[in-house]
Amino acid sequence: MDVLKKVPVREQDPKVRAANFEEVCLGYNEEEAREEASRCIQCKNPKCVKGCPVSINIPGFIKEVEQGNIEEAAKVIAKSSALPAVCGRVCPQESQCEGQCIRGIKGEPVSIGKLERFVADWSREHGIVPEAPEKTNGKKVAVIGSGPSGLTCAGDLAKLGYEVTIFEALHEPGGVLTYGIPEFRLPKEGVVQPEIDNVRKLGVKIETNVIVGKSVTIDELLDEEGFQAVFIGSGAGLPMFMGIPGENANGVFSANEYLTRSNLMKAFRDDYDTPIVAGRKVAVVGGGNVAMDAARTALRLGAEVHIVYRRSEAELPARAEEVHHAKEEGIIFDLLSNPIEILTDEKGWVSGMKCIRMELGEPDASGRRRPVEVKGSEFVIDVDTVIMSLGTSPNPLISNTTKGLDINKRKCIIAEESTGKTSKEGVYAGGDAVTGAATVILAMEAGRAGARGIDEYLSARE
Ligand SMILES: Cc1cc2nc3c(=O)[nH]c(=O)nc-3n(C[C@H](O)[C@H](O)[C@H](O)COP(=O)(O)OP(=O)(O)OC[C@H]3O[C@@H](n4cnc5c(N)ncnc54)[C@H](O)[C@@H]3O)c2cc1C
Ligand code: SF4
Repeated sequence: MDVLKKVPVREQDPKVRAANFEEVCLGYNEEEAREEASRCIQCKNPKCVKGCPVSINIPGFIKEVEQGNIEEAAKVIAKSSALPAVCGRVCPQESQCEGQCIRGIKGEPVSIGKLERFVADWSREHGIVPEAPEKTNGKKVAVIGSGPSGLTCAGDLAKLGYEVTIFEALHEPGGVLTYGIPEFRLPKEGVVQPEIDNVRKLGVKIETNVIVGKSVTIDELLDEEGFQAVFIGSGAGLPMFMGIPGENANGVFSANEYLTRSNLMKAFRDDYDTPIVAGRKVAVVGGGNVAMDAARTALRLGAEVHIVYRRSEAELPARAEEVHHAKEEGIIFDLLSNPIEILTDEKGWVSGMKCIRMELGEPDASGRRRPVEVKGSEFVIDVDTVIMSLGTSPNPLISNTTKGLDINKRKCIIAEESTGKTSKEGVYAGGDAVTGAATVILAMEAGRAGARGIDEYLSARE
């Protein structure tokens, strides 16, 4: 064993996986996990923990893995995270825990994410479930949204004895974990649902198909439905568009819609009645993780797929691992190119996309070199489907229907970071609804802060 290198993780072959929706990464088995765990040098001042937004005792759980005490390892993780099988799969570990790992100075960092995933999967397979509190304290709290922030806030409050009900607009809980991140990175039935069930086992009720702001308002929850506090974890699901001619054509999707149709409405499965217009040649506009997910989904639905991005490869905001996987699977990258018009046929369907070449100028406010159009360099890409993946913002429905709830100019709810407290009494918020589109682990951290804030608020009112 070369201690400078991670124990390699098994993956599906790129040629095989490009045509199926099964998980790309197959994870470690127990022998591989224990070998990888033995690479951790159990630092006295573990930098990895400082890199973890929820401060998991990383050397603590890794030590248990090394010794073969997987159930104990699961207990160590459970103190800080309610969704370890999710985080082990989708957290950007390279810029968090693994980015700080001492082992990474001379060789490769310890594979902390894959070890967390192994422990979580092992626990699920061995039927380990969290313990619910013996009795509740009779206080009711409403949580809006069942994404990682809402689930974490609800789980933490339930552990403290609160009676928690989550109200979810969609017909399935999980937020982006269910409707956004594709099956081949995060399996729904095998991984997401069991972690949601664990939150239910703590006593949390989940009511789906309830749109707060339409079915019921926050004021009604507080004044008429008997809830003493509310946590808003409604995410940032409103897609942005470019505002170019032809963007309303048939065959133009937002990445959110495309991924929701595939993940939530199972467009990729023959036994479902909600298919998608799969596209023969698809352009995905944007270079972030969501763009990679949309591109790899379209590829699996049978299309030739181009990523169209206005900067160069060095500026791609997606995780390096996602770009690497996308390339391995055959996604074509059209870099330094920007769409200026969607072309349509006589029936209003996409028939091509006019783009212009870009070059990089001086750095802009983001510190990245600004893309500048090259005059006279227009060209047409032959596509029949365009997926816009340009970012999202919070839906203003809740802020528009809740008096006294302050938002900023990006339409994000203003809330205190350490408690989630908003401008409205008894109302707390966190996750993407507050920060704009971010990450699962930051949403979980915010959910945890919101639970702390609500507990302090309701304890002080006794
Ligand atoms: C395609 C995609 C891929 C991503 N990949 C990664 C990744 O690999 N790693 C990572 O860390 N992060 C990733 N992210 C980001 C991450 O998923 C989000 O930052 C995170 O899910 C935010 O959690 P949240 O709880 O704030 O909101 P969400 O997960 O968005 O959940 C909000 C929930 O609230 C519900 N809701 C909204 N309005 C209402 C209402 N009025 N009433 C009732 N319910 C409502 C929504 O239906 C939704 O279920 C990805 C995002 C996308 C879109
Ligand atoms: S920094 Fe790396 S080597 Fe040190 S305790 Fe954390 S995982 Fe182990």
